[in-house]
Amino acid sequence: MNSFAADVEALAKRVRGPVLTPRDEGYDTERAGYQLARWHRPDLVVGATGAADVRAAVAFAGDHGLPVAVQGTGHALAGTAGEGGVLINTSRMTGVRVNGRARTAWVAAGTRWDEVIHEAAAAGLAPLSGSFPGLAVVPYTLAGGLGLLSRRYGYAADHVRALDVVTADGLLRHVTEVSEPDLFWALRGGRDNFGVVTAIELDLVPVTTLYGGSLQFAGELAAEVFDTYLSWTATVPDEMSSSIMQMSYPDLPAFPEALRGRQAVHVRIAYAADVLDDAESLVAPLRALGPTGDTLGVLPYTEAGSIHADPPFPGHVEAGTALLGDLDTAAVRAILDQAPPHAPLPHVFELRHLGGRLAHPPAVGNAVGNRDARFLLNVISRLERAEITEVRPAHKRMFEAVAPWSTGGRLLNFMNGEDAAQQVRSAYDPEDYRRLTEIKAVYDPGNTFRLNHNIPPADDREHDRRAGMAPATVPVTPAT
Ligand SMILES: Cc1cc2nc3c(=O)[nH]c(=O)nc-3n(C[C@H](O)[C@H](O)[C@H](O)COP(=O)(O)OP(=O)(O)OC[C@H]3O[C@@H](n4cnc5c(N)ncnc54)[C@H](O)[C@@H]3O)c2cc1C
Repeated sequence: MNSFAADVEALAKRVRGPVLTPRDEGYDTERAGYQLARWHRPDLVVGATGAADVRAAVAFAGDHGLPVAVQGTGHALAGTAGEGGVLINTSRMTGVRVNGRARTAWVAAGTRWDEVIHEAAAAGLAPLSGSFPGLAVVPYTLAGGLGLLSRRYGYAADHVRALDVVTADGLLRHVTEVSEPDLFWALRGGRDNFGVVTAIELDLVPVTTLYGGSLQFAGELAAEVFDTYLSWTATVPDEMSSSIMQMSYPDLPAFPEALRGRQAVHVRIAYAADVLDDAESLVAPLRALGPTGDTLGVLPYTEAGSIHADPPFPGHVEAGTALLGDLDTAAVRAILDQAPPHAPLPHVFELRHLGGRLAHPPAVGNAVGNRDARFLLNVISRLERAEITEVRPAHKRMFEAVAPWSTGGRLLNFMNGEDAAQQVRSAYDPEDYRRLTEIKAVYDPGNTFRLNHNIPPADDREHDRRAGMAPATVPVTPAT
């Protein structure tokens, strides 16, 4: 047995979860995620059961000079999958504890939103979850987290109170605004560049019901529906979150006959005011366009996942994203000209309405950037239905077409294309990106956490600026 194999065997004895190399049965299952088009190919995958396993895995990587990757539910693999190193799978690390009086939830690293939504609802509260409740809470939140309640309350990252994180030196730190302010700022937006978060403490909000659902329109009405939707978004209150999506339905029996081989436009609504009495009058201009399907109504937050009805099963997906400013009729034409029926791809594209509270800095600053954007454009194609060689140029054409309206920024959570690595800077305001590289140089100078949307450490010339930023030499022991 060579020394690496002996060390792997020793690690397997220290860790409660599985420790698997590419030769071991179960390796593929352990590294599988929801995104099937790209996978991590680590030298070693550790199925962590808790912070002690994470510490052991990070220490092992440090001893062998290996990079570390982390995987929650693996939706973002198209932008983050890497070769070699140690992959830590957090999917066994689940658990939620709600404090109804403090309106907070403590959430373990691999927990999905649906668990938190369920526990919070019992206390008359809701988390700032996104369109799909099957996403892991921690990666979603660390990258910002744009949710159904975000125009009212802001990004999920704006509502983090504390984090437990294993840093590259193998230490477990309890990070708050007070204990390690620079790391606290950087983790909320800089995601996995500073360590493996083992648990997070989040604010919950007093929301139990929404007025929400979707309106479905025939594809032939796309121009009129997009134009009306865009003017409508300029009139709505901050409690109204919404998006518009066009989807090209495959000609398959799994879909309703009326949709097969055709396009449909869906407007998705999540209205979260304290009193919902004016909801019907607010959506009246959209209803007046003559939807062929209408699911709008009052629903409990526990059913909020039905609003977008994102597919819960894994798939081969290529996606791209851009942040846009105010949009006009010319922008709508530019987008629709690059989509079916005028162009063969993408299969799905959506505009999510930003602004409201998203445009304001949080009470305690963080690294989430691009708060001036008005819309998020996401462009998605299924690789089961088209070759990657057709998909990439089609997506590129769409982003070129909207360039006049682009802010140049992106949201990390939606950065999934082949060139995601080159796009990382665009997720941050320039001064914040510089600060992130400086904090990286303090907490991860060897760039152990580089199999991701990477923020490299600032080089030595930045040393003077980093002097006042030393990490706590005796990390605070997590209270949880
Ligand atoms: C159907 C669908 C709907 C979506 N809807 C929304 C939405 O409404 N709003 C939104 O903001 N985003 C949305 N997203 C994007 C989603 O938030 C990101 O893809 C997110 O990263 C998914 O979490 P995951 O566990 O699948 O990530 P993974 O692919 O497992 O990981 C993503 C990244 O997070 C890092 N990471 C994972 N766990 C940890 C940890 N414990 N500590 C540190 N870093 C970690 C990984 O290193 C990796 O770089 C959606 C994605 C999909 C596929």
